[in-house]
Amino acid sequence: MSDLQYRTIVGLEIHVHLATRTKMFCGCEMAYGVRPNSRVCPVCMGMPGVLPVMNKQAFEYAVLTALALNCSIPSFTKWDRKSYYYPDLPKNYQISQYDLPMSENGFIDIPLESGQVKRIGIIRAHLEEDAGKNTHTLGNFSAVDLNRTGSPLLEIVTEPDMSSPDEVRALAVELQRIVRYLGVSEGDMQKGHMRFEPNINLAITKDGQEYRTPIAEIKNLNSFRALERSVAYETARQLDEFTDRGITMQMGNKSTRGWDDDNQCTVLQREKEEAHDYRYFPDPDLVPVEMDDEWLSRIRADLCEMPIQKQNRFVSEFALSEYDAGVLTQIRSTAELFEQAVALGADPKKACNIITQNFQKIANEKGCTVCELGITPEKIVEMTNMVTIGQISSTSVSSIAVLSVANLSKTLREIAVEHNLIQTSDAGEIEALVDQVIADNPAAVEDVTSGGKKSKKARGFLLGQVMQRSKGQANPKIVAQILAKKLS
Ligand code: ZN
Ligand code: MN
Repeated sequence: MSDLQYRTIVGLEIHVHLATRTKMFCGCEMAYGVRPNSRVCPVCMGMPGVLPVMNKQAFEYAVLTALALNCSIPSFTKWDRKSYYYPDLPKNYQISQYDLPMSENGFIDIPLESGQVKRIGIIRAHLEEDAGKNTHTLGNFSAVDLNRTGSPLLEIVTEPDMSSPDEVRALAVELQRIVRYLGVSEGDMQKGHMRFEPNINLAITKDGQEYRTPIAEIKNLNSFRALERSVAYETARQLDEFTDRGITMQMGNKSTRGWDDDNQCTVLQREKEEAHDYRYFPDPDLVPVEMDDEWLSRIRADLCEMPIQKQNRFVSEFALSEYDAGVLTQIRSTAELFEQAVALGADPKKACNIITQNFQKIANEKGCTVCELGITPEKIVEMTNMVTIGQISSTSVSSIAVLSVANLSKTLREIAVEHNLIQTSDAGEIEALVDQVIADNPAAVEDVTSGGKKSKKARGFLLGQVMQRSKGQANPKIVAQILAKKLS
């Protein structure tokens, strides 16, 4: 048995749908789930003689994203035609960018499960238009919907710097968080706003010699799960192929594969075309884009703190756990709600718990964000204060959270009073109850003084009696303190 080691090498191509109001080169509205072919015009249908006009907003969103990915932005970029002969793009070419993309040479820092951060290089990001959608469910006919044709797409290409399914997933998730922070895409996987194409191969060392398996590109993955699983599957498949055929195997060319979700495997589609098969050439209908410093700095002004930086800062500045900070910074508005509440005096740890464990849960059920629930920083402050001074118990926080969402005009205190959720921390009031309970239960008091196991049980009993008489509204911590004092 010879000694064999291997390392997985993965690079990723990601297509991100930009959230503009209209398409990339025409005025058609971007709409999802509407009647097929109801958002089309001569330009996106590829009629002869029409002239495309660049969507400036799409270009600015693309530049903003590229800046967030630490790319350099050349001052000159142009458009190219890429041959594409399918019915979902009827003009028979895709407008894309070939040798002079709008950005290149960046990187993205991705948080790994271990708490570590890994830097992944970005080769380039360029703008292009999307194709429409073919469906083959009509028996002998195929149908085409051109509503998506001409939508602005940002294609991002990473260096092959990832080495496991986990890292690939982490990059995809982090990129989703970034485009959502920037507001350039909804990043909705269900709507196909992010599509992934991993390039996978292995570096195998056997008997002191290194071999590379041919690269397989998996096309069009639209979920994090499929992405992660396809990389794991492809790693195992390539390793099997190598060991089956041995080191004398004919390595073959780069191949394109699809992901079969039903059978959880990749399937060979074709041998990959080389770039020249696309016959790129400059689009004569579109003027190149020249970016001056002023325009660039105006776009740069829209950059915000990146989610991973925010997450790290929440750990160092507010002593939150890595996990809590991760949950809290998932959505920018939620992270900002937290920061505003803390700025107004909320205890960070308590505010974090209230937001992530209570309001986030309600928001998830309703399919919206915490801010969209109508929760203000002031409400978070009020809640943390009520918990801190013991006015409400930690167990009633979740009921008050639910009630407050349904009664936005009321203060949390009003809601707590109305629903008998205010906890008594008034020492005088509690002391009176303790006195009553002690007077009424001489046997239990006797047991307390006897010590041992019996004593512990009797203390529990007396505490329970006081809580019962307060109808559950006494602060149990204060009850226990007063009881201990009286019985000592
Ligand atoms: Zn159109
Ligand atoms: Mn592309």
